[in-house]
Amino acid sequence: MPGHLLDLVLPPRCPGCGATVAGQGRFCASCWLRLRFLAPPWCAGCNLPFAFDRGEGARCATCLADPPGHAGVRAAVAYGEIARTVALRLKYGGRPFYAATMAALMQRHLPIDATCLVPVPLHRRRIWSRGYNQAAMIASELARRAQVPVALHALERHRATPPLRDRSARERRATVAGAFRVAPGGRTMVRGASLVLVDDVYTSGATAEACVKVLRAAGAASVTILAWARVIEDATD
Ligand SMILES: [Zn+2]
Ligand SMILES: [Zn+2]
Repeated sequence: MPGHLLDLVLPPRCPGCGATVAGQGRFCASCWLRLRFLAPPWCAGCNLPFAFDRGEGARCATCLADPPGHAGVRAAVAYGEIARTVALRLKYGGRPFYAATMAALMQRHLPIDATCLVPVPLHRRRIWSRGYNQAAMIASELARRAQVPVALHALERHRATPPLRDRSARERRATVAGAFRVAPGGRTMVRGASLVLVDDVYTSGATAEACVKVLRAAGAASVTILAWARVIEDATD
């Protein structure tokens, strides 16, 4: 029986630990308490949480030194054990209800002026082997919930890239540079749009920034990055 049908007949399970819970997609109390929800105070440029309120419009050192091309980096939760588990279960299990769980908690971070959602694409070889793109699953759920259009194929990854783990920031940027392009059929959706680039995990930002670059070059008015989880190096202040 396919996974999504099993989800209908089996008792709902916590997306974090698998304990039986009252409703599909709900976390048990213990996993819920271990999730770190991201909220202000944060950097006005990249939404990096600040340990204390620095006042309206305050920016982190990185954004002051190098103003970002994106319009913010929003994420529902900080990357931690539970957030990682949910992301991996979606990535390697492809069960739609994990995408629904993520989208439900990401929705409040969606900019009110968003005109279109664009998932970070996978290279087609990876889609063939896995069968789906987890970012596209999340973006589709978010689009359905928030009633915002989604352009699943506006962006293409035309060059496969090796995993970015264990690489320096400079190597990561060099690895993904030129890996993405706006599909010919996606140009009209991108031009002048307030886009939201959707991904599962925001790590160094190298991949998202490479996507932002090509979307802006194709005429997007703004691109906000929205992820399920964001890697937060502590003691950023
Ligand atoms: Zn749990
Ligand atoms: Zn910043």
